[in-house]
Amino acid sequence: MYINGQWRLGSSGLHTDDVNPATGLVFAQVAQATEDDVQEAIAAAYAARGAWAAMLAGEREALLLRAADIFAANRDALRDLIIQENGSVWIKAPWEVDYAVDCLRSAAGCIRQPHGETFPTTTPGVVSMTIRQPLGVIGGISPFNSPLLLGMKKIAFALAAGNTFVLKPSELTPLVGLKMAELFEQAGLPAGVLNVLPGDAAVGKQLVADERVRMITFTGSSKVGRVLAAECGKHFKRVCLEMGGKSPIVVLNDADVDYAVDAAAFGIFFHQGQVCMSNSRIIVERGLYDVFVEKFVAKAKTIVVGDPRSPDTVVGPLVRASHAQFIMGQIADATAKGAVVHTGGRHEGPFFQPTVLTGVTPEMAIYGEESFGPVTSIYCAEDFDHAVALANDTSFGLSAGIVTNDLQRAFEFAQRVESGMVHINDTTIADEPHITFGGVKNSGLGREGGEASMHEMTEVKWVTFQLGKRQFPF
Ligand code: NAD
Repeated sequence: MYINGQWRLGSSGLHTDDVNPATGLVFAQVAQATEDDVQEAIAAAYAARGAWAAMLAGEREALLLRAADIFAANRDALRDLIIQENGSVWIKAPWEVDYAVDCLRSAAGCIRQPHGETFPTTTPGVVSMTIRQPLGVIGGISPFNSPLLLGMKKIAFALAAGNTFVLKPSELTPLVGLKMAELFEQAGLPAGVLNVLPGDAAVGKQLVADERVRMITFTGSSKVGRVLAAECGKHFKRVCLEMGGKSPIVVLNDADVDYAVDAAAFGIFFHQGQVCMSNSRIIVERGLYDVFVEKFVAKAKTIVVGDPRSPDTVVGPLVRASHAQFIMGQIADATAKGAVVHTGGRHEGPFFQPTVLTGVTPEMAIYGEESFGPVTSIYCAEDFDHAVALANDTSFGLSAGIVTNDLQRAFEFAQRVESGMVHINDTTIADEPHITFGGVKNSGLGREGGEASMHEMTEVKWVTFQLGKRQFPF
C-alpha cells in the first residue's frame, strides 16, 4: 500500500490474491489495509493538505501535466495491467489509459480557471466576493470495471482543486490503484497528498466515519451507494455518488436500422456489458421492430468472445465467473416467466455469450435489475410516447440514447427522458473528463468532470471588505 509517500506491506501482514479474470490464476498478492493503516493514511493526507492547498497554481498545474506525460509514457504497461487484472479487452484497455492522460490534462487546465465571483451590494462601501477553497481530505471509493479511468477522474480533479486524497480501489483491482500511486510518485507528488489503501468494504467504511475526511467520492453499485448516502448523512459529510444504470437506447421508425444495430451492439457488448452506461434496454418503434431484432441478433452472433489479449475479441471475461451465475439466474427467471432468448444465455466460466432477450416484462427481475454483463432486452414501442414511457419505467436514470433523424422527436426525448445524460444518434456510452457526468434517480447524486468536479470538491466562502467605516444604527 502507499501511505505518506512510502510503500508498505501493511501493519497486519495480511494479503489477498489478485486473480486474472481470464485465466482464473493468481498473478499477484496484495497487502490489505487494517484500521491502523487507514488511520495513518488519513493522518498523512490531513497533514499534507495545507501545503498542497497553498501550492501555486502554476506549480500544481506543472505537476499534473508531468504526471500526464508519465502515464502516457507507461501506456503499454498500464494497458497490460488493466487487461490482466480487470479482463478488459484489447480495444478497451488502451482507451482507458488515454482517458486517464486526458483527464490529468483536463484537470490541470481547470487549475487556472477563476473559482470565485464578485457581487454588487446594497451596503455602502462594501466589496463582496466569494472564494472557493479546497475541502481538505477527500476519500475515494472506486469500482472494478474501469479502475484507472474512474480512479483518475476522482484523484485528478481532487488534487487540481487543492485537496489531498485517500483512495480505496476495488478489492478486485487493487494493483491499478497502486500503479497510479507509483506514477504520481514519479511525477514528484509530495508525500501524503495521495494515499492508496487496498482492502475491502471495511476500509471504505472507516473513510466514511472519520471526521478528517470531508468528502466521499464514490463510484459503484446503487446498493452500496445508497448505504454510503445514509452513512455520509449520519456523519454529515459531503458525498458524490456515481451509481448503477439500466440505460435505454430508443430506435424510432425513421432510423437507419443498420446504424442503430451497430450503436446498440457497441452500447451493450463493449467491455462485456460491464459499463454503468451500457444500453441494457433497447426500445424499438413498431415499424422497425422485427427487422431490428433480426439484424441485432445476427450481429450478436458474430461477436467474438474469448481471450482479452486478442485484438479480435469484443467480449472478454466477466470480472469473476461467479457473476455469470448471477446473470444466469436473471435469465432463468425471465424465461420461466415467458421471455425468449434469441442468442446467448450461456457461458463458459467467466466468458458469457452475447445474449438477446425479448418478451421481458416488469414481473421479471431482469426488467429492473442491472445485469452488468453482455445481456440486453429488446422492447417494442407502439409510438414515440410509448417509447418515452418505457425508457422512463426504471428506478435508474444514468444515460439514454435515441437513434432518429427527426430533430423534433430527438430533442423532445432529450427533455422528457429521466436520465442524467442523453445522446442523440448515438449509443448510451460516452464520457469525457471535462464534461458534466452523472445520473438521476437511483443512478447517483452529484456530478463529476471538469468544472462540476471542481465545484463538488471545493466549498464556497462569502468574503466582504468594508471600505471606510460602516454606519451602524446604534
Ligand atoms: P460495488 O458497489 O460492489 O463496489 C464499489 C466499491 O465500494 C468497492 O471499492 C467496494 O469495496 C466498496 N464498498 C462496498 N461496500 C462498501 C461499504 N459498505 N462501505 C464503503 N465501501 C464499500 O461496485 P462494483 O461491483 O465494484 O462496480 C460495479 C457497479 O458500479 C455497477 O453497479 C456499475 O453500474 C457501477 N458503476 C457506476 C459508474 C458511474 O459512473 N455511474 C461507473 C462505473 C461503475
